[in-house]
Amino acid sequence: MNKVYDIIIIGAGLGGLTGGAFLSRVGKKVLVLEKSKVIGGRCSSRIWDGFSFDVGADYFAKGMLKTFARLDKDIALRPLGFLVKSFNKGKVMTIPPGLHLIRELSGFGMNKKEIAGFGFRMMKELVFEGYSKRYKTNDRVIDEVTDNPLLRNILNIGAFFSGSLPYKMPSYWFNLLFGRTYGYDFPFYPMDGAQRIPDLLAEVIRENGGEVRTNVSVEKIHIEKNKAAGVKTTDGEIEADIVISNSGIQDTVFNLVKGKGFSAEFKNRVKKYKPGLLMNSIFTAFKTNAGTINGVHLYCYFPPDIREMFAALHSGKIPDEPMFTVSVPDAVTGKMTDGCYTGTIKFITPRGEKRKDVILKEAERVIDMVDRVIPNFTKSIIYKKIVTSEDYEDEIGFESCIAPIAESIEYKKMNHRMPVKGIYSVGATVLPNGGCTASSVESGRRCAEEILG
Ligand SMILES: Cc1cc2nc3c(=O)[nH]c(=O)nc-3n(C[C@H](O)[C@H](O)[C@H](O)COP(=O)(O)OP(=O)(O)OC[C@H]3O[C@@H](n4cnc5c(N)ncnc54)[C@H](O)[C@@H]3O)c2cc1C
Repeated sequence: MNKVYDIIIIGAGLGGLTGGAFLSRVGKKVLVLEKSKVIGGRCSSRIWDGFSFDVGADYFAKGMLKTFARLDKDIALRPLGFLVKSFNKGKVMTIPPGLHLIRELSGFGMNKKEIAGFGFRMMKELVFEGYSKRYKTNDRVIDEVTDNPLLRNILNIGAFFSGSLPYKMPSYWFNLLFGRTYGYDFPFYPMDGAQRIPDLLAEVIRENGGEVRTNVSVEKIHIEKNKAAGVKTTDGEIEADIVISNSGIQDTVFNLVKGKGFSAEFKNRVKKYKPGLLMNSIFTAFKTNAGTINGVHLYCYFPPDIREMFAALHSGKIPDEPMFTVSVPDAVTGKMTDGCYTGTIKFITPRGEKRKDVILKEAERVIDMVDRVIPNFTKSIIYKKIVTSEDYEDEIGFESCIAPIAESIEYKKMNHRMPVKGIYSVGATVLPNGGCTASSVESGRRCAEEILG
């Protein structure tokens, strides 16, 4: 029997779609199967009561633009401001940094000599990777660059984004944060929202004769004579010699392949990976007279000691004071719905906390705190939808961990090529590092290159 497809891709996340886009462009017949009704996975949007919200990523790096250019696609976008507001008498630091930083750091209690020393050590790191090459953890790099407690909090922000413990964050995160990796020094937001990114990749696949099907779940990857042979789906059997999985390394190895053909050593390594902490989202629409700043998309609120807060979260406790972020993409694009901007507040669930009433109570506490970063926010809210980490999978379609494998010095990430011939893995759980949209896109591109030799 002639095979209809050269390559089957399980999951229409950014890794799968990017791989599919590059492979279809060189004439491979690609089929992408997505179990949800929406493509994009952790980078997608939903509309509730007429308001559009990004349910996962909402902050993108210029590295991705190179990929779109290679695919001859352009994306309408706006560059992003990034306001980091640190607790402690409302001191503010704005990223990307510029001359304003000198004024902001003196607000942190740093004198001119300390600011100059900090600037010098930052240069040493950002230009020569002077510390991150030498030390394994982000924390250790921070030890070298500053002892100012407020600044140290901010430089530990990666732990929030990946749901890991600050002292386990690998040192390359320092450079990722400052844009040396994937171009997060030029963050952007698509004019049409996060969903535009997977939609654009799916367009490339379809334009080149490939297919992207939704509402089809893959239940099994068939292996014959130690080679990929096709998949079993909720719609029937499909043959192909190459199967790329975007469903995560653990799901691929233990559910889809059932460990067949993988060595015990490989399976043990995969078993050890633990996901990052889970995130909750509070989707809001608010009257634009709240004190958002035009062009600023992300507000971050820091508790006095981020390390203490993470220690509480990782031991399963509600912290004395939570860290949260508020994304307001409309303040960047200028789009309004019924005279409102939309804003998404995110905060982390303590490890293992499954009681929804506890998480909802914490959500209300967080909402009341948002006025500390956006004046008049709380009383301007006209729509609110809280999706707790317990509801994410049912309501939205994925578990709400930002990083399906927590960033950690303990983990060596996977390669795309699996030990069984013809099976590949892409997305946030494989190389390259970072657990962000840019790294998932990059993983899809590299996997395609590897397949094409
Ligand atoms: C709340 C949140 C906020 C984030 N914020 C940012 C941000 O601002 N910036 C940033 O860069 N990154 C952010 N991230 C991380 C980023 O979204 C992810 O790293 C990236 O989108 C993951 O892409 P992926 O390729 O791993 O695929 P995923 O998004 O994990 O998609 C996998 C897809 O496979 C499908 N699938 C799984 N199993 C099957 C099966 N058996 N059959 C068919 N389909 C299947 C799933 O339904 C899903 O659509 C955030 C993540 C979350 C959760």
